[in-house]
Amino acid sequence: MAHNSQSAPSPRWSGPKRCPFCGCELDNGGEAFVRHVDVSEECHEGFERWRTNIVGDMKGEWTS
Ligand SMILES: [Zn+2]
Repeated sequence: MAHNSQSAPSPRWSGPKRCPFCGCELDNGGEAFVRHVDVSEECHEGFERWRTNIVGDMKGEWTS
């Protein structure tokens, strides 16, 4: 069976300095993004859903 972690809808990653959910510019990569999703409710929700999808996929593969 093929690993297909791309099946979940993905945010648009257009570079490390842009938020993939709202497209706004970030000061720097990871740290600014973490802070951004912390203050932006909309992006926070999108990020959580995206992360949950990935974790869910992995769990499904591990347990089944
Ligand atoms: Zn954003």
